Amino acid sequence: MPVLLLAEVNNAKLASDAVARALSALSPLGERIDVLIMADEGAEAAAEAARLDGVGQVLLAQDGTLAHGLAEPAAALVASLAERYTHIAAPATAFSKNILPRVAALLDVMVISDVTSIRDAETFDRPVYAGNAVQTVTSTDRIKVLGIRTSVFQGVEKGTVAAPVETIAAMPDPGLSTWVEDIVAVSERPDLASARVVVSGGRGVGSREQFDTIIRLADRMGAAVGASRAAVDLGYAPNDWQVGQTGKVVAPDLYVAVGISGAIQHLAGMKDSKIIVAINKDEDAPIFRIADYALVGDLFSIIPELTAKL
Ligand code: FAD
Repeated sequence: MPVLLLAEVNNAKLASDAVARALSALSPLGERIDVLIMADEGAEAAAEAARLDGVGQVLLAQDGTLAHGLAEPAAALVASLAERYTHIAAPATAFSKNILPRVAALLDVMVISDVTSIRDAETFDRPVYAGNAVQTVTSTDRIKVLGIRTSVFQGVEKGTVAAPVETIAAMPDPGLSTWVEDIVAVSERPDLASARVVVSGGRGVGSREQFDTIIRLADRMGAAVGASRAAVDLGYAPNDWQVGQTGKVVAPDLYVAVGISGAIQHLAGMKDSKIIVAINKDEDAPIFRIADYALVGDLFSIIPELTAKL
């Protein structure tokens, strides 16, 4: 039986390349993958999804109740479709972390979150203990509900033929929640979770004002800006820049960690980056154990010099 993959829509488009990455994550199942678009304006996103390699069909539900990712109407729709599928999956983002637990509860099955590898239709790997161990989970639930950690997968390419798009009706709104407003930080910079280059600052940066040196370097490199939890807690950087176990999980081509010691909770969010550059004045800082390039020195002289040279 086919697999249902939930796609997040943002401004009428697919929110990111997470659907393409989830498609490659799900490919070991060897089943048809249907993509579900839930939005008020979803036609463009549906057309985008239909062109991705490996998509069997796109289901398009357009309704005002589905406009803002509210868990209750979205989960009601997903649960109503569930009998047609053996697996219901979604990229592990705030969008799906809101919806999947409710879907699982309605179906009386468990959620298997942060899947990093699919061994077979019932067996999945996921990181535990801040990424220090890999847990292999076998589920005998009749429907598997999976959150996919998409940062560890390459996205599929566009296919040659577009998959069909079927319009389906939304379920009646359960009326349990009401959207009030979204307060979204607008930024010209790449999205942190999917950026190719990330420059992150930690406690060593010293103040909110001095964090501007990190931002200038990131802008020079066309990078997203990240931060350690210490930097966020001290108010140097906003909460949604936090990388780590309780922040975002990133796996860019290049990760530059500045004034970050390398606590395991931080590493849990960035250790899968392809190339890691660490800048720290303490040559024994744990971050250097996983760094490909280690610059030992004072960030206040290294960063301006690096920025000027770039
Ligand atoms: P520090 O550990 O204080 O390191 C600062 C570094 O800056 C030091 O290595 C120092 O040598 C260097 N430095 C200082 N001055 C300079 C200078 N002038 N030039 C160069 N280097 C300099 N942390 C996260 O980051 N993300 C998470 O998601 C996260 N989740 C957590 C969840 C739990 C349950 C817990 C308990 C902790 C979590 N933490 C998380 C916190 C984590 O344990 C660390 O406290 C935090 O990562 C430390 O941040 P830091 O490296 O910026 O600060």
